Amino acid sequence: MIKQNLLALSFDEIESFVIKIGFKKYRAKQILSWIYQKQVKSMDEMTDLSLSDRALLSEKAALLPLKIITRQKSSDGTEKFLLGLEDGNKIESVFLPEEKRLTLCISTQAGCTLDCTFCLTAIEKLKRNLKVSEIIGQVLTVQREHPERRITNIVFMGMGEPLANLSAVTEAVGRMISPIGFSISPRKITVSTAGLAPQINQFLTGPTQANLSISLNATTDAVRNQIMPKVNKLYPIKVLLEALRKTPLPSRRRVTFEYVLLAGVNDSIADAVRLVRLSHGIRCKINLIPFNEFPEASYRRPSDDQIEKFQKTLLKGGLVATLRKNRGQDILAACGQLSGENKGDPP
Ligand code: SAH
Repeated sequence: MIKQNLLALSFDEIESFVIKIGFKKYRAKQILSWIYQKQVKSMDEMTDLSLSDRALLSEKAALLPLKIITRQKSSDGTEKFLLGLEDGNKIESVFLPEEKRLTLCISTQAGCTLDCTFCLTAIEKLKRNLKVSEIIGQVLTVQREHPERRITNIVFMGMGEPLANLSAVTEAVGRMISPIGFSISPRKITVSTAGLAPQINQFLTGPTQANLSISLNATTDAVRNQIMPKVNKLYPIKVLLEALRKTPLPSRRRVTFEYVLLAGVNDSIADAVRLVRLSHGIRCKINLIPFNEFPEASYRRPSDDQIEKFQKTLLKGGLVATLRKNRGQDILAACGQLSGENKGDPP
């Protein structure tokens, strides 16, 4: 008999499952707490169940986090995990420790449907959407390797397009924020999209209270078509911004526009001025990401001077604009450097 993977079940489904195997309904809460809060590795550790109940549960069910294929640590403390899925596909998760917070960057697809020309994941093509258990499994797998500190922030910025797998992402975020799940504040969870306009609307009006980032990356359709061909042909800049303008944001929330700076492509002062104009009327902030180079890439990172001028123009235009620290570059763990392959061994 195939054992039921408990990570594949929603909290309600766990309740029906425990009843089905002959437990009282309240056992579901105990079991959930062992899985998500205490993060045990096996049923044997569930000490508020009797020995015979633990045996029965292990017979019927399993806790299947993901297989760690490799694990590489950057000189700045960032760690990249290459994880194996049951069907042989591979994904990556990136662990980003800082003094005050511990962020995990997770994947939502094996490969990606999109073809953004500056992103290494795009070379992979889409293999498939990840299941909820595989999204949640990344958090559990990496957290188990770092029992000393609790993961405080989650960013859906690994491999794949989260909004192309919206129902699994919604369920996964639900389990992350639930007090009987990981109990992480929705303000500390960020879902990033390349700009699937209809799903943005669905996301912002849906049950998920997490933050939304939009990878804008260009200020004209000509350039966006060149660097993000697939998504921009479906949803050109105007359509994307319309979707944002017409969806009322909950109070005090704002979206983030991510903007990868590519030397000579989208980093001119005219671009910065256009960006100020485009974002008019949208409660937003801008996060600038200087391009992270990888061997196959034909783009370059702009000079520090150019990056600073770009940022200053945004600030002068009244925008909130921050610069993302590039972390884990020596192990190809930074934004856009995830491929699901074991690349980037430290020198
Ligand atoms: N598909 C989603 C989630 C991936 S997030 C999205 O597009 O938002 C990855 C973020 O890293 C995006 O903001 C993307 O624009 C950025 N990015 C991709 N490749 C990059 C690279 N080589 N250097 C810097 N940023 C990159």
